[in-house]
Amino acid sequence: MDINSNAPEAQEQILSTMNRDGSRRRIRPKLSKGRFYRGRFLAAWGLILTFTLIPILKLNGRPLMLFDIARREFTLFGSTFLPTDTFLLMLLLFSIFVGIFLVTAIWGRVWCGWGCPQTVYMEFVYRPLEVFIEGGRNQQIKTDATGISGRRLIKHLVFFVVSAFLANTFLAYFVGWDRLLGWMTSPPTQHLAAFLVMLGTTLLMFGDFGWFREQTCILACPYGRFQSVLLDRQSLIVGYDEARGEPRQPWRKKEARTAGDCIDCGRCVTTCPTGIDIRDGGLQMECIACTQCIDACDDVMEKIGKPRGLVRYTSQAELETGKRKFIRPRLVVYSAMLAIMFSALGFSLVGKSSADVTILRGLGAPFSVLPSGEVSNQIRIKIANRSDEERSYAFVLVDGDGLTLVAPENPLIVAAGDSQMTAAFITTQPSTFTAGELEISLRIFDGVDFDELRPYRLLGPEMR
Ligand code: SF4
Ligand code: SF4
Repeated sequence: MDINSNAPEAQEQILSTMNRDGSRRRIRPKLSKGRFYRGRFLAAWGLILTFTLIPILKLNGRPLMLFDIARREFTLFGSTFLPTDTFLLMLLLFSIFVGIFLVTAIWGRVWCGWGCPQTVYMEFVYRPLEVFIEGGRNQQIKTDATGISGRRLIKHLVFFVVSAFLANTFLAYFVGWDRLLGWMTSPPTQHLAAFLVMLGTTLLMFGDFGWFREQTCILACPYGRFQSVLLDRQSLIVGYDEARGEPRQPWRKKEARTAGDCIDCGRCVTTCPTGIDIRDGGLQMECIACTQCIDACDDVMEKIGKPRGLVRYTSQAELETGKRKFIRPRLVVYSAMLAIMFSALGFSLVGKSSADVTILRGLGAPFSVLPSGEVSNQIRIKIANRSDEERSYAFVLVDGDGLTLVAPENPLIVAAGDSQMTAAFITTQPSTFTAGELEISLRIFDGVDFDELRPYRLLGPEMR
């Protein structure tokens, strides 16, 4: 049933991927294999290899990248960040944001066209598989008209398998490769929750690459939405040289040509994965700068004996005035901010200690009075070992006259990159408390390079 049969049609096309009656306009781009495609092909497969290997490879016994949300630990290139590293994480996050601002201001949506996993996997894994199994653009349009075909079913099956592989790669960034391998080699019933997460991620990937596709870039991606504020008139874009191309006129070999260089062949449009016409000019939000229209048009220009570059990498300013300016205030500001943040990050990383210690109050009552009359405080000591080797952490009371420390695990052994928590009891006479409180100092050391004093406040009865 056509749900839009009674709906009024829009006067003009609002979105490249939507028909005037509001239904989805399926984009079936025709691949253009020019010099930019070849460059992107190499970059894409380099990135696919990198994306796949990062969670598998290890540095100093730790994964290159692991976002362990359950344990609230982030490992980046051998360094482990804990939630207590608020300043470092904040600096890192700000640096990433400012870096994105800077890169976008200079090179526009180069990330979208060359590096984003959505484009990389769509254009260099799923799309080639689709063409291989189902046929090219014309065959796909025919199948769209008939609804379904055996080849399309096989394609979906293959897409599902590829999506399962991708989902596992993606999950490895969050649970670690070793744990994931354990899940993959044991029956799903032994880790049902994890299996359901993996299945859900697979279905998301399958839906995204098999059905949602360019809509992710046009409608869902926040980075795409922010382009209008991140780019300026000097930023690199893929643009059509209107002054050179217009007025358009179809190519007739034997006729003398009086019009512009665009022969209105439409190849730049049929090759576009987001379904737009680059000749509509300006900064089009749907353009992901994939360079397919450059390759398509360059090929046409070569065939008709005209110079390449009617559609090319350019900027809005260059298209209007013929001039381009590289240095501008926002680049200077972004670069200065980035330099300051990287310096602060570098200093903080160099000065980072090899362990992170947190002392927490015990669960339950804040203190208890023992049959001997002494007051006992339970504490929990959490130690995260950031070093590359197993360490043994001892803790002692400093100036603890009249204080007794009872700890079943002292020293506490913590594996490299791991964290452990242990409980301990500190007992003292009730008379040592002032207004129900007693300040003490705990020394924690590993005999190698970690030695810190930590203040702690014991609680006890208020003596009158
Ligand atoms: S207009 Fe050109 S560069 Fe932009 S998305 Fe379409 S084909 Fe890619
Ligand atoms: S590919 Fe080039 S010549 Fe053909 S329509 Fe597009 S801009 Fe014009």
